[in-house]
Amino acid sequence: MWPRILAVAAFLCVAGCSDSGGDDGVTGARIVSAPEGEWLSYGRDYGEQRYSPLASISTENVGELGLAWFADLDTNRGQEGTPLVIDGKIYITTAWSMVKAYDAKSGELIWEYDPEVPRAFGAKACCDVGNRGVAAWGDKLFVGTIDGRLIALDREDGSVKWDVVTVDQNKAYTITGAPRVVNGKVIIGNGGGEYAVRGYITAYDADDGKQLWRFYTVPGSPDEAEDEPEYLASARKTWNGEFWKLGGGGTVWDSMAYDAELDLLYIGVGNGSPWDRAVRSPGGGDNLYISSIVAIKPDDGAYVWHYQTTPGDAWDYTATQHIMLADLEIDGATRKVLMQAPKNGFFYVLDRATGELISANNYAPQTWATGFDMKTGRPIENPAARYGETGKPFLGVPGPPGAHGWAPMAFSPTENLVFIPTMSMAYPYVADTDWKPDWKRGFNTGTKFSEAAMPADAEVRKQARAATSGGLVAWDPIKQEERWRVKLPNLANGGLLSTAGGLIFQGQGTGEFSAYKANDGSKVWSFAAQTGIIAPPITYMIEGEQYIAVLVGSGGAMAISAGGIIADNPVPVPNISRLLVFRLGGDGKLPDAPELARLPLDPPAFKGTAEQVNAGKYLYGRYCGICHGDAAVGSVVLPDLRRSPVLESADTWKQVVYDGLLEANGMVGFGESLSEDQVESLRQYVIARAHEDKALGEK
Ligand code: CA
Repeated sequence: MWPRILAVAAFLCVAGCSDSGGDDGVTGARIVSAPEGEWLSYGRDYGEQRYSPLASISTENVGELGLAWFADLDTNRGQEGTPLVIDGKIYITTAWSMVKAYDAKSGELIWEYDPEVPRAFGAKACCDVGNRGVAAWGDKLFVGTIDGRLIALDREDGSVKWDVVTVDQNKAYTITGAPRVVNGKVIIGNGGGEYAVRGYITAYDADDGKQLWRFYTVPGSPDEAEDEPEYLASARKTWNGEFWKLGGGGTVWDSMAYDAELDLLYIGVGNGSPWDRAVRSPGGGDNLYISSIVAIKPDDGAYVWHYQTTPGDAWDYTATQHIMLADLEIDGATRKVLMQAPKNGFFYVLDRATGELISANNYAPQTWATGFDMKTGRPIENPAARYGETGKPFLGVPGPPGAHGWAPMAFSPTENLVFIPTMSMAYPYVADTDWKPDWKRGFNTGTKFSEAAMPADAEVRKQARAATSGGLVAWDPIKQEERWRVKLPNLANGGLLSTAGGLIFQGQGTGEFSAYKANDGSKVWSFAAQTGIIAPPITYMIEGEQYIAVLVGSGGAMAISAGGIIADNPVPVPNISRLLVFRLGGDGKLPDAPELARLPLDPPAFKGTAEQVNAGKYLYGRYCGICHGDAAVGSVVLPDLRRSPVLESADTWKQVVYDGLLEANGMVGFGESLSEDQVESLRQYVIARAHEDKALGEK
């Protein structure tokens, strides 16, 4: 029996596992070696460069790239995942934290796993119910779920090895980010920065799920001050008032990177919660370690250094964006750098051993800062940006989505360029002077989304659309300047892949999947994916053949919250969730795209009062808009309430919105937060909005 098994193993290794770790499965050494045919970790390597040395698909032959195979997915929410490719299999996560394994060559489904997240947890997710991927270690895969669990699966058959709850499930914590594994420790953060929670990351033993350490990013209540570590005691001095009652924010919901030589783990920390610092920390303060990059020891979670990108953040300017490590020649010396293009519009180059700021410059337009002061290492703030302190609205550029969201960047070591998927839009920040926290269902930003809503004015909408776009920017991190830029029609687009074939791959919110030349940004290939793309592509090789894979499916924060007004340009893009895999000479075809199905804009007669509409407008901005769209203009991912048949009947509306009739679908009831009168005022507001848009010619 044994000789035969060994013979099979030897045969498999001939088929291309020269760099694989054999019986140990995925190890730290194997991730560090980053075998060229595989994709073992979220950013491909621990430094998260998303650069593949594969060059079979090149600028010369990319025109022959075609569909090899595709797989239809069983969810229709935004797909954000980075697939992993290990030992000839491709592992993906989909919306609602589901995991699937396919043969990476043939596309045959090997196993699938559904953590059966109760759909009501979707109401705690600011930005859709996407999931960015699994992590691999040994013979296991790890996935974080929207309801705050971390689950270990057997990589061979998808069976559950362990399942732990990483959050207080009574609070509005969610997980959308991919875990990372360092030295057998699975590290996972969480989101919730718009709902007044306290941020942290936790490490679990990959073997058995035992909690090893937890690192809080912001101080807790004064009761905890006596026992808190030094780094939290120093952070406490940068806060004012009873900040701990509101959580403080600082959630670590996406980026991490690891340097195996320095043995440092880098985490990106999110925005302050509530957003308005005048509410969160009256009297000001930097509010450490919100909007910061923090270096910690992965063995015990000990603090090493931090750099705060947005001191005293009030604009949702997270530093959770992609953290990328590289070695760059700067002023004649090789520097081990860490790079980030966070939401606030500055590109930072730090020394990753010490946290020293090497350089910073803005890669996008800004109204909140007038420049950068290298002496203090801080942005030069525009005083008018402090809307909470001034009491006056502030037109922020970037807005809360940032000049760069979670969509990953990519690096080219030959061009020495960092490629950034950028976003351009403005947003009016307005303090909510009557704001009170709502621990049940409320968005807890301390700002008025109702006052920032798009007015029903054709000219204003036209201008807003014109001022809103996406971009693909090639940034020289040594010179801190732009090399080239491609303007994209949609605000939110996919993350990036860079290859030794001289190519940059990116999907767009419009549904176009494209390849560009890394050196000059010229477009050399594209494919019509029929649906919006926000996920980043990857590449791998099997039996000498290079493949490109990408998850497609419209959704994510921008598609659902800014749905019809500025995000989809010029028309709404349907969600057709799939995994697409390409190779040279691939001749696969997608089925014909179905017609975009939308209910007509045909509201019942308006019989409400101006008072109801006014009250409903405020409540809609705080409770509804984040999923059903700004100013009630919905996407095609979640219901457009202006078109809903439920609008006809006050009673049915109450059953859904107040009682939670459709909770199993994810539409929770708001009865614990809102009165029946308030729920009816929401209905009148939506009816009024539907009539306004109908008058503007919408059908
Ligand atoms: Ca946020």
